[in-house]
Amino acid sequence: AQEALNKAEKLSRLNAFLHIDSELTLAQARMADETIAKGQQGPLTGLPIAHKDVFVTKGWRTTAASKMLANYTSPFDATVVERLAHAGCVNIGKLNCDEYAMGSGNENSAFGACLNPWDEQAVPGGSSGGSAAAVAAGIVLATTGTDTGGSVRQPAALCGVSGIKPTYGTVSRFGMIAFASSLDQAGPLARNARDLVELLDIMSGFDEKDSTSVMSCDGINNAQGRVKQAFNAETAKFQANGSTPLKGLRIGVPQEYFADGISTEVKNAVEQAIAQFVALGAERVDISLPRTALAIPAYYVIAPAEASSNLSRYDGVRYGHRSKEYVGLEQMMSRSRAEGFGPEVQRRIMIGTYVLSQGYYDAYYLQAQRIRRMIANDFQDALNHQCDVIMGPVTPTVAKNIGDNQGDVTADWLADIYTLGVSLAGLPAMSIPCGFGGAQGNRPIGLQVIGNYFKEGQLLALGDCFQ
Ligand code: GLN
Repeated sequence: AQEALNKAEKLSRLNAFLHIDSELTLAQARMADETIAKGQQGPLTGLPIAHKDVFVTKGWRTTAASKMLANYTSPFDATVVERLAHAGCVNIGKLNCDEYAMGSGNENSAFGACLNPWDEQAVPGGSSGGSAAAVAAGIVLATTGTDTGGSVRQPAALCGVSGIKPTYGTVSRFGMIAFASSLDQAGPLARNARDLVELLDIMSGFDEKDSTSVMSCDGINNAQGRVKQAFNAETAKFQANGSTPLKGLRIGVPQEYFADGISTEVKNAVEQAIAQFVALGAERVDISLPRTALAIPAYYVIAPAEASSNLSRYDGVRYGHRSKEYVGLEQMMSRSRAEGFGPEVQRRIMIGTYVLSQGYYDAYYLQAQRIRRMIANDFQDALNHQCDVIMGPVTPTVAKNIGDNQGDVTADWLADIYTLGVSLAGLPAMSIPCGFGGAQGNRPIGLQVIGNYFKEGQLLALGDCFQ
């Protein structure tokens, strides 16, 4: 833990951490030492990790990278934080991200951009940019992130680390600052799939404090141990196949994920990765996800709609920043919100309020919900009848430079094309490193592997095979 704190300090220019508190960290580390002294350690005892600053953490400042919550200290732990602490993990600090997890480059943080450790001109991706950068820089071995429309997978891809968004409902959202509740899902980031297994296994499991937490599905119980068990079973199956471990596995490759807009370097790296899976015995099947492009407008209606509702609680009374100068209650609220929220958050609140308003609700929100259902059905058609997993890119290009796309508010939204559909469908998906691109050849590329509901163990076993 001390070594991780030293590294974090040495690499503070990356701006990966928003809050460090060595006293809190070292107190937790001493508890891990005691556990080890008693011989009661588990696989994660003493492991230095760090949390995205949207997970409330007892005694720590939790800001969601917003001025609105700049002085908020949580009186309780999020379930994810509690479970990892219980397993002996030591929290090194709270990680930078886009404000309220709204963004794709960590540039929307009220506390400044985070740099990509591979190339400090580049964004680390977002919204879990600090989570990906802290692992890529070797400060900690694993971090937590949240993925509403790609925010674990995309920064993992752009920082050359591994990350998984599990099936919606398998990890508790209790204590996770809400962005879009029907999409928000926590997931771990680490160097490789095997490390993700350990983290996700502890994070997953039914939680009565989250009303959308899944107890069981198709005879599979959502309990701690589920992910590891499935991972071990899949791995044993692969091993039994000898030199063709993936014999019988059908990989669906959606043509829409390789259409206009993808860069040649990303396309080539992803194609090469798929070829490597084929060399391990898998079969490649060309499939179609015809509504891929519609995921963008559907998501950017539904997510802002839910955000506008979730963020109404920050009114300067119940939570958050309160303006110093105002006349009357209404001005107090409007000034507090105008001062506390950054431009992207304000934009989303306005879009969300608009699409939910009377007369527009049917035309935008309901229509987006219908498309959401169709997108989920397209994935089910593919995963139930044509293939076992789906593979493709995470992003159309490697990381952009910090400051690019400024003034073009939808450029980043369009680049979410390969991650949003999975989120709308609630499916699990993983990003693992598969190459490099960019003018200097130092910007990482990720491979996305999408599975059916509850198939996290299968995805992670495939990742382990590849790595
Ligand atoms: N880039 C997407 C957005 O800005 C996804 C963010 C996320 O997954 N938290 O909404």
